[in-house]
Amino acid sequence: MSITEPTARPIGDIDRALAAFTILLGEDAVITDPQELLAFRDPFTYRESDQWDASACVMPTSTEQVSAVVKIANEHGVPLWTFSQGRNNTYGGPAPRVPGSVIVNLRNMNRVVEINEELAYAVVEPGVRWFDLFDALEEAGGKLWTSIPDLGWGSVIGNSSEYGRGYTPYGDHAENICGLEVVLPTGEIVRTGMGGMIGSQSAHIYKHAFGPQLQGLFQSSGLGIITRMGYWLQRRPEAYASCWLSFRGDEALAASIDLMRELMLDGTVTNYPVVLHGVELDADGNPSFSPEKDLWLVRFALYGRPEIVDANWVACERLFGAVPGMSLRRRVYAGDDRTSHAGHEDRVMAGIPDMDILDLFQSVYGEDTAHLDFSPVGPLRGADVVETAHLMRGLYEKTRERFFSGLMLSPRSVIHISTMFFDPHDEKQTTAVYENYSAMLAVMRDRGYPVYRTNLQHMDAVAAQFDFNDNALLRLNERIKDALDPNGIMQPGKSGVWARRYRETAQ
Ligand SMILES: Cc1cc2nc3c(=O)[nH]c(=O)nc-3n(C[C@H](O)[C@H](O)[C@H](O)COP(=O)(O)OP(=O)(O)OC[C@H]3O[C@@H](n4cnc5c(N)ncnc54)[C@H](O)[C@@H]3O)c2cc1C
Repeated sequence: MSITEPTARPIGDIDRALAAFTILLGEDAVITDPQELLAFRDPFTYRESDQWDASACVMPTSTEQVSAVVKIANEHGVPLWTFSQGRNNTYGGPAPRVPGSVIVNLRNMNRVVEINEELAYAVVEPGVRWFDLFDALEEAGGKLWTSIPDLGWGSVIGNSSEYGRGYTPYGDHAENICGLEVVLPTGEIVRTGMGGMIGSQSAHIYKHAFGPQLQGLFQSSGLGIITRMGYWLQRRPEAYASCWLSFRGDEALAASIDLMRELMLDGTVTNYPVVLHGVELDADGNPSFSPEKDLWLVRFALYGRPEIVDANWVACERLFGAVPGMSLRRRVYAGDDRTSHAGHEDRVMAGIPDMDILDLFQSVYGEDTAHLDFSPVGPLRGADVVETAHLMRGLYEKTRERFFSGLMLSPRSVIHISTMFFDPHDEKQTTAVYENYSAMLAVMRDRGYPVYRTNLQHMDAVAAQFDFNDNALLRLNERIKDALDPNGIMQPGKSGVWARRYRETAQ
């Protein structure tokens, strides 16, 4: 069993592989210049470190080219690392887990293949960004909304396959995936679920499969390269209300969490709310950091016919109004209004992408501000949330670095995201932040809160935390990895899973 990080990393015959990639894709689609490759470093690690540098970057434009790239990698034993837009900042950015890997950059596969307004789904290639999907939906008639993360520059496939989160009723992005086309580690092309039939009418409208559902195998796993994905979308509501609660203190926090859980479970609140600490809003709803004020903000939304939105708002006012110290407000928009929203917070819950939140984040250490997000998952119970918030704040106080918390709520669980800021040009500070993350992992493991997504440095440590029955889950993942990826070329080390040749080298 390999729960320790392999030390030696075989990278195969890179020169022959590069020659074959160039014949396949052309010189312009194969980057080997070290200066140009700097663009694929993780911007949120120490900037001078070459620890995660790739040896090359290839840019296929079709599924067939991706398949041919994978076959070449197998022939020459060269590890590949894939990204769709490569904006996975705070979870590794575009950088590979194994230094010397060849990056498969899918930005040039960027077609919105299909929009089905009637059945409310789209089919996208990996390079399609949230900005692109939004534009395509508006051009198609505007009857569909996509959920989006806070930044519009990422890809629909990269974010959703990593269990990314947005803030509309379709905010659990992995839940929207219906039907994948995948290039396996051997280069074979498969379509999952109902899409496995030629001419299938049901590839992107029915989520189950005949037999085992394999779609999940290709999410956050490094077991294949997704080249196409069906994605479910929300019907444009007639009305949308962006709603805010603000309060101070533990009692109000616990009460608001318990109440919000009930409102989500009974269907009054259908989106994915967030709870922010250390953030203040001006009159237009624009946020700024104010960690010294013990202020909590809850952002949620209501959608539907105007009568329903109004009725649900009245219920929220009544229920939250009964909790001492709550202040509540809302702004209402027509569903077909895509331009007049007051700020990022109102846009993001309506699926309108922007990059505005970067201004806020860059207010800490300037343009290059980096941050490390720590993302353990726990139960959505007021008392637990208060206790966890105190625990995490205590851990941050030790480093004295600046941070803020954003709790991402689902009806039963909460992701306790805390964001620790640092200057990536400062090696000492960067090291301290990553070390603190390791300490936090240990504390939250004792609490029984697993992490749902992590950075390159901590993938092995997080995988090792799933320790039921002597890490049976990791051993199962390794068996699947060995079966699908016999030469161990596909994203080695992704999510802490190493193919046999890396495990053997580590012995
Ligand atoms: C300020 C800020 C705010 C953020 N807000 C959010 C937020 O609100 N919600 C959220 O979820 N995240 C958020 N993030 C995290 C992250 O930046 C986004 O999730 C971003 O969309 C991920 O980048 P990407 O879509 O370009 O994915 P990529 O970088 O393209 O992919 C991420 C990973 O997925 C795998 N992968 C990608 N494409 C494929 C493929 N085609 N086949 C197989 N595997 C693949 C690879 O392992 C890759 O490393 C935020 C980050 C920052 C810095």
